[in-house]
Amino acid sequence: MNELTGIPASPGIAVARPFLYVLEDPSTVPVREIKAEEAPAEWARFIGAVGKARVEVTALRDKASIEAGEDQAAIFESHLLMLDDPELHERIERSLAKKLVNVERVLADIEREFVDKLGQADDPSLRDRVSDIQDISRRILGHLLERERPSLAEIADDVVLVARDLLPSDMISMNRARVKAVVTESGGRTSHVAILARAFEIPAVVGVAGAASKLRAAKLVAVDGDRGLVTADPDEAALARNEVSRSASAARQRELDALRELPAATTDGFRVLVKANIEVPEEADTVLAHGADGIGLFRSEFLFLGGHVPDEEEQFLAYKRVIEAMKGKPVTIRTLDIGGDKVLPELGAQDEKNPLLGWRAIRFCLSREDIFKTQLRAILRAAVFGETRIMFPMIATADELERALALVDEARAECRAKGQATPAMLPIGIMVEIPAAAMTSDILAAKSDFFSIGTNDLIQYTMAVDRGNEKVAYLHAPYHPAVLRLVKLTIENGKAAGIPVGMCGEMAADPASAIVLLGLGLDEFSMSSAAVPAVKRAIRSTSLTEARAVAVAVMALSTSSEVAAYLNTRLP
Ligand code: PEP
Ligand code: MG
Repeated sequence: MNELTGIPASPGIAVARPFLYVLEDPSTVPVREIKAEEAPAEWARFIGAVGKARVEVTALRDKASIEAGEDQAAIFESHLLMLDDPELHERIERSLAKKLVNVERVLADIEREFVDKLGQADDPSLRDRVSDIQDISRRILGHLLERERPSLAEIADDVVLVARDLLPSDMISMNRARVKAVVTESGGRTSHVAILARAFEIPAVVGVAGAASKLRAAKLVAVDGDRGLVTADPDEAALARNEVSRSASAARQRELDALRELPAATTDGFRVLVKANIEVPEEADTVLAHGADGIGLFRSEFLFLGGHVPDEEEQFLAYKRVIEAMKGKPVTIRTLDIGGDKVLPELGAQDEKNPLLGWRAIRFCLSREDIFKTQLRAILRAAVFGETRIMFPMIATADELERALALVDEARAECRAKGQATPAMLPIGIMVEIPAAAMTSDILAAKSDFFSIGTNDLIQYTMAVDRGNEKVAYLHAPYHPAVLRLVKLTIENGKAAGIPVGMCGEMAADPASAIVLLGLGLDEFSMSSAAVPAVKRAIRSTSLTEARAVAVAVMALSTSSEVAAYLNTRLP
């Protein structure tokens, strides 16, 4: 038995065999026996993969010589030589004929031999070549494995999915009925993998150092998403402990679900709204089951992340489905927020040096008006089927907001010209998730119908901390005074302008934070559906007067840990 710890990312407990999704690691490359007559075809696959790698490396060399100078370009020049090294090619061909296994396995073994030999060399320049060899070998392996990459959609047995990292698109395409838990080496609580795991109610632990190599040989893996524990081959006692925790948390959930029909109101009768965040239309069905007051954030970009770009009609049907499923409760559709970790090469988004600071969200949409207006038309048409709001992500300036609003007008006019119905009035608001937006929320409030504070990004940009990097996860701190002050300022400016202010970042899902936010004057909370009952309970257990006193006390504290300690003493 071997216990690993990580960041608890999605609650729940599961036990299943591990499914490793770490293909670029040579030691995990699958072995497939081949017949002698298949060897030439395997050899041809190798040559094909080398060709693709050559195109990539040539582009890198050219880019490096323009942007980084000839020294850097020389590195890629040597990679090009290695790709076509006759000795390497000969070894591959010989090993294929001798071992009669798939060519990626042959290449992975040769890489290992080279690396072992060079790693022990006395000459440091030879040792330095290890990373070059790994680089080209992984590049070729990447192309070879493309064809054989096990499809997460085709997972047929119950598994614990173990990966170094997962893309949001992996989470969308995997067979969610069979993935019982997710374990990743990278990531933080607000990384999109964690958000999606909570949305799909799949237990997850992220930031588990060495998970892939430590779990590879396990027959069974137990995941405790409440405590952030991952156990390889749990013994009887550990399995029994898991069972106890599982039934305790099921009982807690049943107790919370009893709140479903009750309003999110304080003991002195102050009513707020507790809504749900969704990523895919199917989730809309669980929103009402958890007792949410509507959808506060529909992350529409996930419609685009499954490898297929939906046209206007498909989008219209998806939005209509969500709006109708809410049976009259409001739905806030956030326009496309791609970029950052949500890469979408199909739409022309490219690799960037700093994707989190780059061409994402509203910035992307304003320069791809065709894509943006297609989405806006689909939303406007669907909006006649129920109460709908439009929300723009990553607004940094009033000019961006004005331009986006003008495009909504254009999209509306285009619908009308085609005789398509659109609502006479539809609230349009913004996410406040960039410090510049929070600081100028008085200016932005004049042009917005509502605000929704996105703390996942607001904290990322305020604290200069990548929200998906487990090594600096301690800095993704909602209780840091800088974050709390920006949240307070945004709420005050929204209130002064008479518009509702909500929060759809993960901070809103924390019952302790909810009291502070209530005291600061927040009107709406939005979170993964499963978190709705616990926040409702927190709100129902306090009075507005008490919450205000808590907020005043918290704003006077100096550090996150002081705030956490103080709130610990206040919560029931
Ligand atoms: C946020 O940034 O807080 C947010 C809700 O948006 P996302 O997590 O999708 O970036
Ligand atoms: Mg965001």
